[in-house]
Amino acid sequence: MSTLRIYNTTKVPLIFNEDDVLSKSKFLTPVAQKCTVIAVDEDVIDEFYPPEKRKSLDEECLREILKSYRNIEELEDMIENCEKDFEISSKFVAVGLFMCKPNYDKVEKLEEILNKNKIKYNSRDIWENVILICPERINGWANKLNVSQKIANLKVLFHEYAHAYLCNDRNNYLGTWYEKVVEEGLANYIVIEIFKNSRYKSHINKLILSQPVEYKTCYAYLHDNVLKILPPNFFYKHFERIKFLLRRYSMVLFPFLSVYHVHGEILSLWKNRYLFEPEEDFDELIKLIAISSLKEII
Ligand SMILES: [Zn+2]
Repeated sequence: MSTLRIYNTTKVPLIFNEDDVLSKSKFLTPVAQKCTVIAVDEDVIDEFYPPEKRKSLDEECLREILKSYRNIEELEDMIENCEKDFEISSKFVAVGLFMCKPNYDKVEKLEEILNKNKIKYNSRDIWENVILICPERINGWANKLNVSQKIANLKVLFHEYAHAYLCNDRNNYLGTWYEKVVEEGLANYIVIEIFKNSRYKSHINKLILSQPVEYKTCYAYLHDNVLKILPPNFFYKHFERIKFLLRRYSMVLFPFLSVYHVHGEILSLWKNRYLFEPEEDFDELIKLIAISSLKEII
């Protein structure tokens, strides 16, 4: 029985099928069922990838400043200077994209592409959560690293499903460098969870290690001593908030983690960041998590 929406509008045949996805999707299954996945050509994904997202932190620049900063305020200012545009960061091309509630123009464009390819789709609610993937680029990436093309395609797809999982109705990420660090790190962290017991784990790691530094912060959440990535006053400062989250959301938010795991708490804080009254404090917390996770992996 078909339960996922995956459409291919490219000439490149998809090398994974629905069973491949569903056999791995675990806690992401309900999310995957709500997403419409469209495989598109390079020019289409580039058109949809907004320029403000095409930024990446320069790893060498970060390494230098992490050696020399004197205090956290100084570090924050310096990190902003490490932001490089997509065009000059040759490592970073769009292979996948998650869009929460794309606007009318985008939907119209996608419908045009589906119609042109004579792909039948039936309702309007398929446009709530849209994922674009670019198989041509993904296969090229896999070849360059000598990893399985199928695994690379699934990695990209699950990374985008993870964005859908981390998203709530009131946000679609990512204005700042620190939001991007946390969001991309958590998305890849979820990918690692998905492939944890797979024999292709090493392929996943190869792919992640070739990504920009934001994406590699997933490894900070995996260390045994995950507490290290958090500032010492984290629990003291945020105890009330965490207590509330654990009580109210533990069953929903921790499908694969013990509630006592700190990375679970980070995930839940992130997912629920707009359920709280906006607080300056919270932005600071995200910044601290971002900096701490970068420090851990650089
Ligand atoms: Zn991403």
